[in-house]
Amino acid sequence: MLSEKVNNKKVRSWNRKNACCFCKQLVTNFSTHLLRNHKDEHEVLLYMSINDSDLRERKRRRQELTDELRNRGNYLYNNSVANEEGKNIIPNRRDYENLITCIKEMYGFNNETGNVDITSSPARFPSLLSCVDILYSQTILNISLTTAQKDHKKKKLDEFKLLFAANWQWEISSNAEKARKKKNMTKDIILLPVDEDIKVIMKKIHELEETYGENLKTEVTVLNYENLCEVTIAHIIMLDRKRSGDVAEAELHYYINRKNADIPLSVLKCLTLEQRQAIDKLDIFQIPGKRIRAVPILLTQKMRENINAIIISREKLKIPKTNRYLFARALSEEPFDGGKCLNRIKEKCTLKKPEMLTATGLRHHIATMSQVHSGRNDRYTEHLPGRVSGS
Ligand SMILES: [Zn+2]
Repeated sequence: MLSEKVNNKKVRSWNRKNACCFCKQLVTNFSTHLLRNHKDEHEVLLYMSINDSDLRERKRRRQELTDELRNRGNYLYNNSVANEEGKNIIPNRRDYENLITCIKEMYGFNNETGNVDITSSPARFPSLLSCVDILYSQTILNISLTTAQKDHKKKKLDEFKLLFAANWQWEISSNAEKARKKKNMTKDIILLPVDEDIKVIMKKIHELEETYGENLKTEVTVLNYENLCEVTIAHIIMLDRKRSGDVAEAELHYYINRKNADIPLSVLKCLTLEQRQAIDKLDIFQIPGKRIRAVPILLTQKMRENINAIIISREKLKIPKTNRYLFARALSEEPFDGGKCLNRIKEKCTLKKPEMLTATGLRHHIATMSQVHSGRNDRYTEHLPGRVSGS
């Protein structure tokens, strides 16, 4: 039995045994168990790589990761024992919200697009409701609980069940439905940017990088500074095919502390032979992506030169040292809006299908389709790194 008696309020009502998602064992000290037994798992490696010097931040990020794994294991366990007698399901700590997050995770739910990877699983889902029923009868039969405690528990379970029943279809199933429909739709409609448009916008970006770069070096004004920031952000989105938010919110210290030689193997593997040979002409730094993944950013020489000018200008523009963004705004503590930066450049170009030219559209644009050359001699620097982050 996993659930323990609740004698007073200080005792946690959920037992601290968790099911391990890797070996299916029930363990008491979850993180220690992970480090001892599953060092090779991707998630455990990620856990060990979280090394923020800020201890609270480190704890928070590590906790976030173990919570996710805990949920995953408990969910698998609960699902497998739901119909077995004599075994209890593990109550979820933060109930509904946690459960939904966990289910979404299981289904490969993508918060940005609303897509799910596995389109057939939600049909199985009502079995989770039967777990609630089991908990319910156990509560009633539990002789160590007072009537008031029982009522309280029953009420909680009722709430949870209602909430879950009312929402799971909407939260999970409808997304699976949408994903299925979308998959069929995209067979006909290709929502990709036009190659020609990419060339036009890259040419404009190079022009503007030259002009704006010169302008800022001649005179440090808010306008010159922000113009150069915007075009550089747009360039990174175009070249590296990254989420606009991830780029606009990249932090200064990731750039300053980058190690040039450390190009991750996963990135190298995605580069063509030509690109690898040209690697010393490129620069790279990594920013944390959505979820914990690191996102490598490749920079051309021009971009690096301009970013240096941007950083040097901070002092003159009295941008506070506490502003952690690499592309800090001159008059605000908020970051740039990456999508808007790209739009500003688009407005200056004549494009065939500008609506496809978004960070998301670009990420889906297959790298092989777009050996983008901008007409400059530098034939290496504008090769795309491909889908380096696997997103
Ligand atoms: Zn294990």
